[in-house]
Amino acid sequence: MTTTLTTQPALASTTHPLQRCGAWAVAILADRPEPGAVTRDDLDTVAARLVDDITTVSTQADNPDWWKVLFALYPNAKPTHASRTRDAVTLRPLVADLFTPDRPHPHPLPCTFCSAPTEVRWAKVHLPLFDTVNALNTRPPGSAGWPVCRGCRVAMWALPYGAWVTAGSATVVTCAAPAVERRFAARNVTRAMRVQQTGFTGLPADANAEAVTLAALRAHAADAPVDAVLWSFKNDNQEPWLRVSSTRLAIGRLLVRIESDPASRQGWHRLRRALARRDKDSGGYAAVARTLFVDEHGSADRLLRALHHQFTTAPADPVTTDAWRRLARTYQEEMYGMNVERLAPARRLVVAWIVAERNPRGRFNEYVLAAGNAYALHKLLMEAGARLLRDGGQPADLSGIAPTLLSNGPEGWRWRAQLFFEVVADLVAAKAPIGRKPTEDDADDEVGDTIRFDPHAEEVYA
Ligand SMILES: [Zn+2]
Repeated sequence: MTTTLTTQPALASTTHPLQRCGAWAVAILADRPEPGAVTRDDLDTVAARLVDDITTVSTQADNPDWWKVLFALYPNAKPTHASRTRDAVTLRPLVADLFTPDRPHPHPLPCTFCSAPTEVRWAKVHLPLFDTVNALNTRPPGSAGWPVCRGCRVAMWALPYGAWVTAGSATVVTCAAPAVERRFAARNVTRAMRVQQTGFTGLPADANAEAVTLAALRAHAADAPVDAVLWSFKNDNQEPWLRVSSTRLAIGRLLVRIESDPASRQGWHRLRRALARRDKDSGGYAAVARTLFVDEHGSADRLLRALHHQFTTAPADPVTTDAWRRLARTYQEEMYGMNVERLAPARRLVVAWIVAERNPRGRFNEYVLAAGNAYALHKLLMEAGARLLRDGGQPADLSGIAPTLLSNGPEGWRWRAQLFFEVVADLVAAKAPIGRKPTEDDADDEVGDTIRFDPHAEEVYA
């Protein structure tokens, strides 16, 4: 029996992260609101555009940046192979062949991605990560390749338009909110056109996939809370890799609070600048955006870790330390529901114990060494309580917070980190001589600035 193709949609959006991103790119290039609205005529138009772009870069003598992008994704395909023809008239039909419409066939196979009937089978040279990373794919039994329908073939090669690409890797986002995925892809389509025109050197180097994702999440934070997953990969012949990182569900709310609370916003700005200095990243936008993503190896709470690093190494001025502790509070409250007030007795005790000494630097250093360790901090709190009592002070009641603060595991660490931020900010505000002098003037006041999670978020492909 011959299957009719006309009942199928021209393009489906599937759960495969790469196909899904490619489908968004097709929709954006065709000026449609979503992949499901793409028509067969649209597919013709987008396919023609891909053929033009691919043929143009693949026949240039100097391997332009867009060709490097294609090479990173499809290293052994006809237009990217080292031994390819540089003659456009010869190459063009070979490229166009990739996207020919499916014809009715007596024994079609279901498309690997969307199940639409097709007789075309693709091998890994045309499908990034296939046959290399088992996390995403399984090989069809005893077959020469994976059946891929026309819509999905166009999508898999429109992928570099919708992904955040570098000369060697690509990153796509998946999110329960289609608007976030669309915005991410639209921003990248705009960027892809720039790369084609001017190469990567013509682009500002101050954003990354994380910053673009944060901007999209922020733009849609008023919708239902969603998290986002970033899939970064390289389809190298020798060492293909796939890395997955994600945000938490509360991310949208957190971004809104960082933006709307002046102290948290200032903390974010100052952390961004501090990271820019450290990482030589122009602007620090990319580095600070990364602090809100958790990678698969479990380096969680990068924001708290980045702040911790600043608190222990950077010179301290009262405005910055206060802005940073407030940024940390906002994060802890939104991400973990922490009630920071519960730290008040421990915070007062530690501060009082440190400043009771004529030269508090020694005790401060003792606290710095103990602050991150449950056992050492327990000892220090007991000693501090006893000393203050002997000196005629009030006993501190730590019974409410001690079990949490002194527990092992990530929760205890987060509470101890917050206590550390609170204590340092209090000491700096009280001008306690703890040996951390402010040297750099961060004074130009960013409180009035709006936050730009992605510095170029406005330049979205219309
Ligand atoms: Zn398909």
